[in-house]
Amino acid sequence: MNDITSKDLTTLQELMKTYGESAFRAKQLFEWLHKKMIWDYDEMTNIPHGLREKLKQDYPIIQMKIAKKYTSQLDGTIKYLFELQDSHIIEGVLMRYKHGNSICISSQVGCRMGCKFCASTIGGLVRNLSAGEMLAQIYKVQEDIKERISNIVIMGSGEPLEKLDITMQFIQLINSKLGQNIGQRHITLSTCGLVPAIYELADMMMQVTLAVSLHAPTDEKRKRIMPIAHKYLIADILKACRYYTEKTSRRITFEYALIEGENDTEEDARELGKLLSGLLCHVNLIPVNQVEERTYKSSHVSSIEKFMKLLSAYGIQTTLRRKLGSDIDAACGQLRNRYIKERGE
Ligand code: SAH
Repeated sequence: MNDITSKDLTTLQELMKTYGESAFRAKQLFEWLHKKMIWDYDEMTNIPHGLREKLKQDYPIIQMKIAKKYTSQLDGTIKYLFELQDSHIIEGVLMRYKHGNSICISSQVGCRMGCKFCASTIGGLVRNLSAGEMLAQIYKVQEDIKERISNIVIMGSGEPLEKLDITMQFIQLINSKLGQNIGQRHITLSTCGLVPAIYELADMMMQVTLAVSLHAPTDEKRKRIMPIAHKYLIADILKACRYYTEKTSRRITFEYALIEGENDTEEDARELGKLLSGLLCHVNLIPVNQVEERTYKSSHVSSIEKFMKLLSAYGIQTTLRRKLGSDIDAACGQLRNRYIKERGE
């Protein structure tokens, strides 16, 4: 995609050269796009009119709009549906904490990973997002709430390690001092465990937090709920995670969605405890969100509490994901599916 909002400063400088313009025009353009978040050439008043016209012709800026917005009356959480230029729908969630605003963004339209409990994967992968489309989710929400966002989790629809190059482009842009300057430590990237990409990411020595969706303590159980488990064994994922912690000194988060009767027994907790003990990590337990099209149910409160206690006994830091926006609740990908149905597709 010839999307100008996805280009870094160096690429913009090269582009300016082809127009016979000096390098500082690239910096101006970059600041309009990523610091001021103005995605309309007509408003870029310090760029000469002639150049703006050429850019309009050659690099029309992608447009994205907020299609729908659901605000929680309980805690201010806002779920957004965004409409992309080609009319595909993606979703994002703004969460408000005492320490600042956090946003969960999508990395793809749909997903092909096929996790059995997840709504995002029901229609498969439609297409990847560009780095600019990942950024636009943040810029649009900042514009909407008129506040800054300080934390980003790439945990919406899609698998961000499937196109690591795009995800890296996004991280570099949002991290840029000439743009929003959001620190790598304020960015979390969630993966279902694509082993080779975890090694690649580790070698880049990024400071982002890696979250790995484990969801089961054995390969057998994992295969029942996550098709990717047929490709990568838990042992290999953990080896890659160990490598990541050695390279980056960053603690890994393991996500574990508790599903009644699938992965929530005391035996499961013990096996998970043994598996993870000694690893620089933290477990985030998530009572599974029920999805209309799926039969999985969340574990009982009593099993969740027991699970937490058992894990802690292995010295593993465990947190239970707080449920935000429960009055506008919809599992990952669910709002999009409903909206598309309503739209009659
Ligand atoms: N593909 C990436 C990121 C997107 S999913 C990944 O797999 O990590 C973000 C997180 O939400 C993952 O941990 C995923 O397993 C979890 N998730 C998806 N559907 C869910 C549901 N119905 N209930 C609870 N967690 C869910």
